[in-house]
Amino acid sequence: MRKNIVAGNWKMNKNHPEAKELMEKLLEYKKGHSTNCEVYIAPPAVYLSEAKNIFANKEILVFSQEISAHSSGAYTGEISAEMLASLKVEGSIIGHSERRKYFGETDEIISEKIKIALENGLIPIYCNGETLEERKENRHLQVIQQQTETALFQLSAEQIQKVIIAYEPVWAIGTGETATPEQAQEIHAHIRGLIAQKYGENVANEISILYGGSVKPSNAKEIFSQPDVDGGLIGGAALNVENFSAIIEAFN
Ligand code: PEP
Repeated sequence: MRKNIVAGNWKMNKNHPEAKELMEKLLEYKKGHSTNCEVYIAPPAVYLSEAKNIFANKEILVFSQEISAHSSGAYTGEISAEMLASLKVEGSIIGHSERRKYFGETDEIISEKIKIALENGLIPIYCNGETLEERKENRHLQVIQQQTETALFQLSAEQIQKVIIAYEPVWAIGTGETATPEQAQEIHAHIRGLIAQKYGENVANEISILYGGSVKPSNAKEIFSQPDVDGGLIGGAALNVENFSAIIEAFN
């Protein structure tokens, strides 16, 4: 179901006491404020179990930053969908550009990860986005189309409605440079249009499409107010409660 979402991707940040402190502060914030969006966090995998205990009443939904494309076995270092589901983690970020760049993830691998997540009842937050070079060459719409089709279009109409999409232009992630609200809207409408062509308008209108890339308290409201932007995937600004809560409040 389409909803407003603010999701924090902590990446490889925070030692255990720092992570615990941030989760406790977020719980306190969430208990004291009614919000007009769902709030998710994706802490490092070693803290997932603790996060599920802290947010026992689902005040904040907990996602992993990664998931294996394999179901089990001799894959040292990997974390399976079944393991995540057994912790009652809600879902997984899949296809983040840092995974594509540093760990060689292709759209084909990403497609497998999305399938295994769904088979195990996990919600995929599927990330796509063009590089600066691709945008300069005016290929961004085409790149997004190809990524979206390869990663998602083997899914059934029922399955795709369970996926959250995050458009994250690579040139805007962690750079301080943000897509303009118009640039974000153009791509979000493009993605929704592609889904509408394949699965129909009703299905396309059920899908939340988040924007990610240097969202901060100062720009969140304008970006989130675009008709096809349903919230944000937040990196750096999710690492302290003041910035993250200010972004959540962009929906108030
Ligand atoms: C991200 O990593 O998904 C992200 C959007 O990072 P940042 O907000 O720091 O650009």
